[in-house]
Amino acid sequence: TEACLGAVEASGELNAFVHKTPEIAREQAAAADARLKAGDAPDLCGIPLGIKDLFCTKGVASQAGSAILDGFKPEYESTVTRQLFEAGAVMLGKLNMDEFAMGSSNETSTYGNVVNPWRAGNSEAALTPGGSSGGSASAVAARLCLGATGTDTGGSIRQPAAFVGITGLKPTYGRCSRWGIVAFASSLDQAGPMTKDVRDAAIMLGAMAGHDPMDSTSADLAVPDFEAALTGDIRGKVVGIPKEYRMEGMPQEIEDLWTRGKEMLRDAGAELRDISLPHTKYALPAYYVIAPAEASSNLARYDGVRFGHRAKLSQGDGITEMYEKTRAEGFGDEVKRRVMVGTYVLSAGFYDAYYNRARKVRTLIKRDFEQAFDSGIDTILTPATPSAAFELGQTFDDPVQMYLNDVFTVTVNLAGLPGIAVPAGLDSKGLPLGLQLIGRPWEEGDLLNTAYCLE
Ligand code: GLN
Repeated sequence: TEACLGAVEASGELNAFVHKTPEIAREQAAAADARLKAGDAPDLCGIPLGIKDLFCTKGVASQAGSAILDGFKPEYESTVTRQLFEAGAVMLGKLNMDEFAMGSSNETSTYGNVVNPWRAGNSEAALTPGGSSGGSASAVAARLCLGATGTDTGGSIRQPAAFVGITGLKPTYGRCSRWGIVAFASSLDQAGPMTKDVRDAAIMLGAMAGHDPMDSTSADLAVPDFEAALTGDIRGKVVGIPKEYRMEGMPQEIEDLWTRGKEMLRDAGAELRDISLPHTKYALPAYYVIAPAEASSNLARYDGVRFGHRAKLSQGDGITEMYEKTRAEGFGDEVKRRVMVGTYVLSAGFYDAYYNRARKVRTLIKRDFEQAFDSGIDTILTPATPSAAFELGQTFDDPVQMYLNDVFTVTVNLAGLPGIAVPAGLDSKGLPLGLQLIGRPWEEGDLLNTAYCLE
């Protein structure tokens, strides 16, 4: 813990930690020592972690990367962080992220962007760590902490993990409780571990997962021993290669990475099979209707009354002015864009044309995966991202270009499936690239074991 606290202190240029909690860390570390001495050492006993700012942590600033939550200190602990602390974990502090987890580059944060600890060749240009869990990715890659929590609504664990060369797992929807996690798009949001390797992800997921009556979508299933699933034996497993993920204009380096991944799984004894997921091309547009729709509803609660920031009012201002001024000041541009898109697609005249159609597309995407699994596929292998980490500032002004980053990851959230990104090599500039594996629902153990064969 002391070593990590020192590293965090010296890591200012990464801008990964936005609230440091050394007193809490030392208290938790002392308690972990005592448990160790008493011979009661749970899985994460004394393991220093970083916590994404989206998780409510009792008495500790939890702002979801937004100015509208300035000064908000929750009275309660999220279920996931509570379970991590009960398993002995130590909290070093809260990690930077895109505002309300909306973004793919960490540039929408009210705290300013995070920097990727990797540099391209000799270039001085700073790179994005990806988003929205960019602080978590950067902190784990720079070894400021041994693991971090992330959340993934459309790729926010897997894309940043790929951009910094670490492992990131988005569990099956319902595996980890969403209680106490600031909501973005509730039917897609899922918490997961971001760690240096697959084994750490398995251990951390074990502590994060489990049924929680406080979240009505939390699954009432036993949590298997994910670490025990890491046998390295995938003989007889069938790995699907979906042809729709071979996008036009995909860089050769991504193609080569995918080929290497296939070879590694074949060498480990898996059978490769070409498959088709025909509705893949509609996933991104459907996601960017559904996610903003849910966000516009979830973010209605930031009204200046209940949480965080309230605008200064002028003489004669009423409650409407209070709402308007607070939201105008408190939300950043990307959040406002999503709220407007979401409100539009849910409005009476357009509901059927946009929101309802997107929901139908979502069902078709889910069915594509079900059919693949029914035909005997165990796991699906794809690239995690269409490119390596890009330069900060590059795509920020072009929201559609930014949304294209999520082309390989959003399908998994729409279908509620588990997906994992694992580091799988470097591009010609020496930057990390990631592969993605997609698993059957509730088969995270199997998924982790397949990912283990790619390490
Ligand atoms: N980049 C996607 C978005 O901006 C995904 C974000 C996420 O998974 N939280 O919506």
